[in-house]
Amino acid sequence: MAAHTHGGRAKCLQRLVRLELPVPRTIALSFNAVHGIAAGDMPDMEALLAPFDSEALLCVRPSSEDPDWGGPGAVLNIGMNDGKFVQLSDRLGKVAAAELYLRFVQSYAIHVARLDPDMFDEVSDDPVVGLGQSLRAYEDETEEDFPQQTAVQLAEVLRSMARAWEGTTARLLRQAKGAPADAGLGLVVQEMALGLGQGECGSGVMQLVDSQTGARQITGRYLSQSQGREALSGGAGALFLERDPRGPSLEELAPEAFAALKSCTELMRGKLREEMQVEFTIENGEVYVLDGVRVARNARAAVAIAVALAEDGIIAREDALMRIDPRALNELLHRQVDPEAARDVLARGVAASPGAASGRIVFTAEAAQAAAAQGEAVVLVRRETSPEDIRGMHAAVAVLTERGGMTSHAAVIGRGIGLPCVVGASQIGFDPVRKQLTLPDGRILKKGDTITIDGTNGEVLAGEAPLLEAARDESFQTLMDWADLVRDIAVRANADTPADAEVARNFRAQGIGLCRTEHMFFEADRLTVMREMIFADSSEDRAAALDRLLPMQRADFIDLFRIMQGQPVCIRLFDPPLHEFLPSDRSGMLELAEALDLPLSDVTRRVEALGEYNPMLGMRGVRLGITVPEIYDMQARAIFEATIEASREGAPVVPEIMIPLVSAMREVELVKARIDAVAAAVRSASGRDFTYRLGVMVETPRAALRAGDIAPHVSFLSFGTNDLTQMTYGLSRDDAGRFMSAYVKQGVYPEDPFHTLDVDGVGELLCIGAERGRAAKPELVLSICGEHGGNPESIAFCRAAGFDYVSCSPFRVPVARLAAAQLAV
Ligand code: PEP
Ligand code: MG
Repeated sequence: MAAHTHGGRAKCLQRLVRLELPVPRTIALSFNAVHGIAAGDMPDMEALLAPFDSEALLCVRPSSEDPDWGGPGAVLNIGMNDGKFVQLSDRLGKVAAAELYLRFVQSYAIHVARLDPDMFDEVSDDPVVGLGQSLRAYEDETEEDFPQQTAVQLAEVLRSMARAWEGTTARLLRQAKGAPADAGLGLVVQEMALGLGQGECGSGVMQLVDSQTGARQITGRYLSQSQGREALSGGAGALFLERDPRGPSLEELAPEAFAALKSCTELMRGKLREEMQVEFTIENGEVYVLDGVRVARNARAAVAIAVALAEDGIIAREDALMRIDPRALNELLHRQVDPEAARDVLARGVAASPGAASGRIVFTAEAAQAAAAQGEAVVLVRRETSPEDIRGMHAAVAVLTERGGMTSHAAVIGRGIGLPCVVGASQIGFDPVRKQLTLPDGRILKKGDTITIDGTNGEVLAGEAPLLEAARDESFQTLMDWADLVRDIAVRANADTPADAEVARNFRAQGIGLCRTEHMFFEADRLTVMREMIFADSSEDRAAALDRLLPMQRADFIDLFRIMQGQPVCIRLFDPPLHEFLPSDRSGMLELAEALDLPLSDVTRRVEALGEYNPMLGMRGVRLGITVPEIYDMQARAIFEATIEASREGAPVVPEIMIPLVSAMREVELVKARIDAVAAAVRSASGRDFTYRLGVMVETPRAALRAGDIAPHVSFLSFGTNDLTQMTYGLSRDDAGRFMSAYVKQGVYPEDPFHTLDVDGVGELLCIGAERGRAAKPELVLSICGEHGGNPESIAFCRAAGFDYVSCSPFRVPVARLAAAQLAV
C-alpha cells in the first residue's frame, strides 16, 4: 500500500498495524476503488464487511495523498440502528447508546442525505429524547425510514464521500493547495473504539512536542465520553494529558492508559521517523490508536524537530537538512506577524524584505530620524527611496514605497539591513503634497497613523498587528553547522558597512562578495565632501576633495577587513551616476549653495548639467572610472593603505577589487593600469608589499559575451544579475514593479526575473560568460552577487554552472547556506 495509491492516512495506519500498535481493524479503499464508487461502481458490500466484527460500529475517514489537500469529513458510528441501540443500551447504558445513535443519525442526515443542519437546532439535550426527535425529523424530511442495514449505511457513506471529493469546489480548493488535477482520494474503513460507555471511556490527541517551538513537551487534550477530535474543540471538561498545575490530567485520571499512550507515541516517532500526533480512544481503560498525523508545525518547530530527530539517531543529518524549506528560515530570522491573528489588510505590494514591524507613518527621511531620536518606532513611506533616504531607512522600523520592484533601491537596502519592506504598493494613493495615503477602500492615512508592514507577505496592515519574535535558537545553529559540513559552493554576503559586515560574520558568511562603496558616501559629513568633489572645477580642487574622502574610505576598509578576520572582502569601485549625490529639489539646492558658498544659479546649472535622460545606461560604473579616474585612484589607494594597516595585526589581507558595469576589454586594461600604478606608489611610499586581486562585474550582456577577452586580465568575474537582468530584458529594475504582477499573472514571465533568475535568457548569458571566461583562464573564480545569489533555485543554477560562490544580502545568508547544502546532499 502506498500513499500515491491509497493515500497518506491508509499508508500510515498500515505501518501502525505492522508496529503492532493497538489499531482497530482497518480496511483501505484505493484511489481507483473510490473513483469507481463515485462513478456508481460499488464494491461488494458483503465482502467489504466480512472482516469486521458484526457487532462493531464502523467509521470512514478520508485518505488523500497529502493531508493538506483536505477531503470530506469523517463519518463515525456507522452500523447504529434500532437493534444496536437496544443491545448497546444493555452494555453501555441507555444514555450512551442513544448518544451514539443520535450522532450517527445527525451526521448521516447532514453528510449523506445532505439535509440542512438547522433542522436539528431544536432537538433536546437529553440524548434519548433527542434521538427520537432526530429520527422523526429525518423521516419527515426524506419521506423514508432511517436505513437500518449496515451495508446500506456504509455504501451510502462511501458514495457521498467519494462524490464530495470529485465536486468542483473541493477540486478547486485542493488545486489551490498544489494538488494535481487528478489527485485521488482513498477511504479508510475502521472498526470503532467507542469512547462512550462504562469504565474510563473517551478520546483525544497526543503529541510529544510543542507545535510552536518544537520543544519536547507532551501536548494534547483528552475528553471523557467523547469521540473523534471533540477534546480539541475547546469544550469544557477536556483534560491535560500530562500532570499539569493548571488543571486535572489524564495521567492522574488513568495513569496506565496515559503510560501506554505515551509509549505508543514514542514508538511511532522512532519507527515512522517523524513527530506524530496520535488520535486515540480509550474504551473501558483500554487504549486504541485510531490515527497518526504529522505534527503541525511552524518553521521554528520544524527546525527543532528535525534537529532532535537527527540528534536522537532516528534520521540522518542529511535528512534533517532536507526536511527544512530554506525559505522558511526567514520566519526564524525576522519577527513575523502572528499568523493566527486577524489581519486588516490596507494594501498589497512586493514582499521585498522579510520580517514585520509596526510604527507611525512618516513621509520623509528627516522625520524618520527625528522620531527615532525620540525613541519612536516609525514606518518610512515614500514614493520610492533614493540614496538620500538611507539614513531615514536606518532610523525607521520598516519601509513602504508606492513604486519599485525586487531590486529597487528600497528593496536592496531593506534586505541588506534586515528592515521589513514592502515596495511597489501602487494602491496606497501616495500624496506627497497633502502628506497622506488614500486607500482603495477610501480610508485615509496621515502622518502619525500606525500601520504594520509585513515584508514577508507583502502586506500593509492597519494598526499594530501582534508579532512573533525571531528565533535563532540552538537548533537553528546546529542545523546551520550541519549544512556547512555538506555544502560545496561557498556563500558570501553583500555588505556595505561595518554593521552589515557584523551581520554577515554572525551568519557565518565566507567573506564579502560585494561591498557597494558608494553607500559609504551618504553619511552627512561625507556627502558634503562628495558634493564638493562633484562640483570641483579643476583637477586640483577635485584632488583636494578626494584627499578628504581618502582617510574616511581607508577607515571604512580597515573596519571591514578587521571584522571579516581574514575572510575575503570584495570591494566594488564607485558605481552610480554622480547626480545621485546631488539634491533634487530647490530647498536641497539652496542648502548646497550655502554649504559650498556658491550662487544658487551655479548649483542649479551644475545639477542640471549632470542630469541624464537614462542615467542607468549613462555615465556610471567604469565609464565614470575612465572619465573621472581620480575617484578610482582614491578608492584604490584607500584599499591598499587599509590592506597594509589591517595586515599588521594578523594574516596578510588580500583585497579584491571589482570594476562595475564593464562592457569592453579596453575598459579593464585602462582601469587595471591605473590601479597597478597606485599599488606601486603605495608600496614604494610605505616600503611594504601586498597583493590584490582584480575582477570584473559582469552586468552587461556584452561583458558576458566577451568574457573570453576580459578573463586574461582579471582573477575573477562576478555576475551582477540585477543589472544583467535589466539589460537583457531591456526592463528597468526600478519601474518593473508597476506591471510585473500583470505580466506574471498572464504568464508572460513565469516569475519576476529580478527575483528568480531567468534561466533561459539571463542564465544563458551566465553560462556563456562562465564558459568563455574559464576557457581563456581555467583558474578564473566565478560568482554571482546580484539579488539572485540568495534565491535557492538560482543557487542551484550557479552551482551547476560551476560557480565558486554566491553572494547575497546578509540576512539571506542562512537561507543560501541551507539551500546550497540541500544541493549537495
Ligand atoms: C547587480 O547589478 O547585480 C549588482 C549586484 O549591482 P547593483 O545592484 O549595485 O547595481
Ligand atoms: Mg549593478
